[in-house]
Amino acid sequence: MRGHLRDLTRKQHYATLCNTMQQGNGRNNAYANAAVYRKICVFCGKEFTCLKSSTLYCSHRCSSLAYKQRKKDERHRVADVLFQENRNSVLMDRLEKMELLSPSMAALYLGMNRTTIYRYMSAGALPSIRIGNSTRIRKRHLWNTSR
Ligand SMILES: [Zn+2]
Repeated sequence: MRGHLRDLTRKQHYATLCNTMQQGNGRNNAYANAAVYRKICVFCGKEFTCLKSSTLYCSHRCSSLAYKQRKKDERHRVADVLFQENRNSVLMDRLEKMELLSPSMAALYLGMNRTTIYRYMSAGALPSIRIGNSTRIRKRHLWNTSR
């Protein structure tokens, strides 16, 4: 009982001990010595009572719907990763065809940090050209530097 109470203070935001059963009119004697928890269902938000402090869902239905939701979220995460990978490869194809790269593009192309590119440029190790306010790097100069 005391253990249950300690557990409850930790999880107070969603669980409170229900002692009404113990103060019942005698008809609830079967539950007189059991801790009954009044909780909020993690899935549907409805209040329910249960005998275990670890119960999260009000019903089997909510439990299985929550499971389905988790699986769906997982699938979406995988789809996001695949989408990002595809986007990166499209970007790389485009960079492959370009002759002039911005410092950011050059960094992406080489898989380097942008500040490293700027460091090479300011050290005079990587020639760059200015077009108006923009800085561009000739791709063949990247290979001369990194080899
Ligand atoms: Zn529920």
